[in-house]
Amino acid sequence: QQHGDGVLLSRPCRMLLLVNPQSGKGQALALFNSQVKQMLNEAGVTHTLFITERQNHARELVKGADLSQWDALVIMSGDGLLYEVINGLLERSDWEEAIRTPLGILPGGSGNALAASVHYYSRASPVFGEDLLVSCGFLLCRGLVFPMDLVSVRFPSGQRLFSFLSLAWGFVADVDVESEKYRHFGAARFTIGTLVRLACLHVYRGKLEYLPAAGPPDDWVVVQEQDFVLMLAMYQSHLAEDLLAAPDSSLSDGVIHLFYVTAGISRAALLRLFRAMEKGTHLAAPCQHLVHAKVRALRLEPLSPKGIITVDGEVVEYGPLQAEVHPGLARMISG
Ligand code: ADP
Ligand code: MG
Repeated sequence: QQHGDGVLLSRPCRMLLLVNPQSGKGQALALFNSQVKQMLNEAGVTHTLFITERQNHARELVKGADLSQWDALVIMSGDGLLYEVINGLLERSDWEEAIRTPLGILPGGSGNALAASVHYYSRASPVFGEDLLVSCGFLLCRGLVFPMDLVSVRFPSGQRLFSFLSLAWGFVADVDVESEKYRHFGAARFTIGTLVRLACLHVYRGKLEYLPAAGPPDDWVVVQEQDFVLMLAMYQSHLAEDLLAAPDSSLSDGVIHLFYVTAGISRAALLRLFRAMEKGTHLAAPCQHLVHAKVRALRLEPLSPKGIITVDGEVVEYGPLQAEVHPGLARMISG
């Protein structure tokens, strides 16, 4: 059945629910039982619970699983567990079919950016915490499946991985990592991490090139500046529950929203930028150090010897990389 671009999951519907009991404040399982379980039962959705015991447990499971048992794979955690699942699916020999498995997200972690994005696409007013969980629970019960863009990231070592949310270098990547230790504060970890990193602001040197979304296939643009405070590539709207980084992004617009902030920005201006991002108004208020471009691919070559690069909030190898969007490669239950 068609609903706009979406396809309805058939009923009855069988979901595999992957829960990371350590995510967020360590309450993902309790929250699922109290807020979502009954809703799913009433909607005619049967679910099998799989509790992860360690990092990469879910990745190994989906890599080897008989996927025909499930109509959807649902992640109740932060973005980190979905990152595992997507990469596990794409490591299979039948990846082309496996990545068509509908995916669902329930916010159970401290970094719930995709859940916030999915809620945002439903055009409902912003909600946080347990209200966001209930909203995502309803969207799951409704079961409308849409295409979702993925981005492949390649390294000179030959390593390739897939990303559904973000690629960050500099300030945002530093905050991702810094804020890990504040995970028990829940979503507030990013606010705390931002303030800590602002206190010791670094400049990173590197080369950045991109392929504009609208231009001809080989028209790479070389960014003239080489001193950056941050580079952030986003393919969904939210960077965190309360950070609307790319307000005009949609699930499968085929666009990488590239942002970079050049050196010379004051701490006050950078803080203002992140405060404006809470409402998604950072692009309306002009800041000469912030650049936004809609791109299809990008190349980053860090020249500073030390630094952090994150993909979907997870640390990856530090060095040159190339990223490219694959429009609508995955499928997501969304608003
Ligand atoms: P959060 O938003 O709280 O960081 P994530 O879903 O991002 O939650 O998970 C954080 C990390 O924990 C991810 O790298 C994930 O792979 C890993 N992980 C998954 N299951 C477990 C587990 N049972 N114990 C510890 N770490 C886990
Ligand atoms: Mg995480």
